[in-house]
Amino acid sequence: MSLPRVLTVAGSDSGGGAGIQADLKTMLALGTHGMSVITAVTAQNSLGVQGAWPLPVDAVRAQYRSVVDDIGVQAVKTGMLASAELVEAVAELIGGTDVPAVVDPVGVSKHGDSLLAASSLDSVRTRLLPVATVATPNLDEVAQLTGVRVESEEQLRPAAAAVLSYGPRWVLIKGGHLPGEAVDLLTDGSVEHWLRAPRHDNRHTHGTGCTLASAIAAELAKGRSVPEAAVAAKEYVTGAIAAGFALGGGIGPVDHGW
Ligand code: PLP
Repeated sequence: MSLPRVLTVAGSDSGGGAGIQADLKTMLALGTHGMSVITAVTAQNSLGVQGAWPLPVDAVRAQYRSVVDDIGVQAVKTGMLASAELVEAVAELIGGTDVPAVVDPVGVSKHGDSLLAASSLDSVRTRLLPVATVATPNLDEVAQLTGVRVESEEQLRPAAAAVLSYGPRWVLIKGGHLPGEAVDLLTDGSVEHWLRAPRHDNRHTHGTGCTLASAIAAELAKGRSVPEAAVAAKEYVTGAIAAGFALGGGIGPVDHGW
């Protein structure tokens, strides 16, 4: 049996809730073969990130080559990239192929721990976003990258336009932090899809962003269009958030076994 193959290029979360670990669980749950290029190792649990160590650029390039040259990939997802050097190396790797790439421009974790050096923002804007098939920023990342602050649903449209000006083919702005329904806007600048889900009052949401981006990549690897993949991914992450559970003394993870 040949499974669609999906690659995550992201950081490891030792607590198993976000990062590479969330990505691989999502890929498995959605019937794909998940592979990983690890960019950084974090010492992390439900209370926060206690330490983070980016890997050397050569180690990241070597992992990528090993996977792509032999096994092959049908979609890529990027997450925590830690430094400008790594952002640029990963942009070069994924920009050199026509494999669809879902770019989650991870900046800061829910606990407020930085997962990307502030000096890397320019590389994200000018190198990584231009090679993205879909970029999936949350509202904090939109503000960091574009200066546009979103406080209402109507403001999602100008925020999307600001991100699209950097060159991704599509943007999915995650409006989950707005009050009311969990609404996201997916657009390529001409077509708009408003993705809505009921809000689940569950604080155990660690790994939400990683899960959504990986689910989109898994669906793209199955041959779905970007809008189809985003709709399926939203449904998947909504179920995972509803089933999120307590683990440790802080914020528990979303659940991939729902
Ligand atoms: N740790 C790693 C390695 C991540 O990649 C991410 C998010 O992308 C996080 C932690 C943060 O997860 P959350 O903000 O859902 O707690």
